[in-house]
Amino acid sequence: MPSLREMADAVTSGAADPEAFVQEALRAIHGDRERDVPLNAFLSVDDEAPVRARDPVPARPAERPLAGVPVAIKDNIATLELPTTCASKILEGYRSPFEATAVRRLKAAGAIVVGKTNLDEFAMGSSTENSAYGPTRNPRDPSRVPGGSSGGSAAAVAAGLVPAALGSDTGGSVRQPASFCGVVGIKPTYGMVSRYGLVAFASSLDQIGSFGRTVHDAAVLLQVMAGHDPLDSTSAARQVPDLLSAADGSARGLVVGVPDEYFPENLDPAIRALCDRALAALRDAGAEMRRVSLPHTQYAIPTYYIIAPAEASSNLARYDGVRYGPRPSGARSTRETYELARSRGFGDEVTRRIMLGTYALSAGYYEAYYGHAQKVRALIARDFLVAFDSGVDVILTPTSPTVAFRIGEKIHDPLQMYLSDIFTVTANLAGLPAMSLPIGSIDGLPVGGQLLARRWGEPTMIRAGAALEAALSLGAAAHPGG
Ligand code: GLN
Repeated sequence: MPSLREMADAVTSGAADPEAFVQEALRAIHGDRERDVPLNAFLSVDDEAPVRARDPVPARPAERPLAGVPVAIKDNIATLELPTTCASKILEGYRSPFEATAVRRLKAAGAIVVGKTNLDEFAMGSSTENSAYGPTRNPRDPSRVPGGSSGGSAAAVAAGLVPAALGSDTGGSVRQPASFCGVVGIKPTYGMVSRYGLVAFASSLDQIGSFGRTVHDAAVLLQVMAGHDPLDSTSAARQVPDLLSAADGSARGLVVGVPDEYFPENLDPAIRALCDRALAALRDAGAEMRRVSLPHTQYAIPTYYIIAPAEASSNLARYDGVRYGPRPSGARSTRETYELARSRGFGDEVTRRIMLGTYALSAGYYEAYYGHAQKVRALIARDFLVAFDSGVDVILTPTSPTVAFRIGEKIHDPLQMYLSDIFTVTANLAGLPAMSLPIGSIDGLPVGGQLLARRWGEPTMIRAGAALEAALSLGAAAHPGG
């Protein structure tokens, strides 16, 4: 399947029919569904999508940079044409009466939504195994998870079913699946993309992000979605920078920080070696390396796993079988309605988070847990400020401590699952932009490198990512099989 850039060029120049790529995507999605072991990347598909692609392409192609491009949307982002289930039984068949701003902007730029993708229920998880509609499989090895929670979007892009997709990232849910599936995933600065229509998980951490096969393709989606939205008071009223010329930039003069805490003694040596190779490629391309320290990293997991469940327990209070969720039959009181709707509607992980979060916020414990976590969060954010203020432009780390694990391997051990988020949660706690891009593979399984930048540092981050992508592909061409 052609890349996003090739598709949009072909449609705007008239070389391809506006419906052509949309039909190709639908054929690929249905083809996968008919296989013995389908990926289960999509929860719903819009077979009417080709009709929507028939709009005449307007005179100014610059206004439709996504003309005729089929895209997939994570199923916790509201769309009008298809249900929005959050992969939860409690929202089975739910149809949003409004559309997410991010989706509206993609459509205005010419993109065609072909389907909604699978996720961990309410985006809580790191493997897409917590979906009420079955796990998604990793296209590189169907016995393994695609990562999560945006596993359906990452798998759909990696398998070539669509050239690009949207995800959401609260603690790594765009970057970690991008790493596991071998694609590019960008989580923007907190406040860059409107969250109107994104179903809330943890409101101080959530951002919508993008997936593509290349840095450029993921950056185009971000460029189109970014910018102030009066419907989301947390979206920043700032000029959106030019991300696309950044995607053609070079690494010359960039200072790349390498934090000791993200390369611990016990890091998988093969992952360390691929990061070293990425750093060497950036150095050859004209960047300078500098060791930095982010001393509060060790507290990131406990801090995140207090704050995220606390906010989730509050956000998910609305699913009570009255306004949202099927009203249970046989309830004799309002209280029993709530109890039945919630115990039938939520899966185990969502229930666990609500319990953890409710406990952390309860009277007498609030200061010890939530209050304390907020203070440590400020220290984690300050570590990054100190590093960037010392003259570092971007920071490079592994995205995940492991490659994609096997389906079933961690699902009964929530703590192991949580620990695998160690390198990604910090960007959300600090509100920073971060991206994952492929830097190699171990026994055929992709490994992602993570780049982080200061708040609103997307142009620099994307420039570094594009330069790294180019340097590694030149290296691969020079050393085939390397
Ligand atoms: N894996 C993390 C969690 O379970 C992050 C999820 C996300 O970013 N939505 O909370």
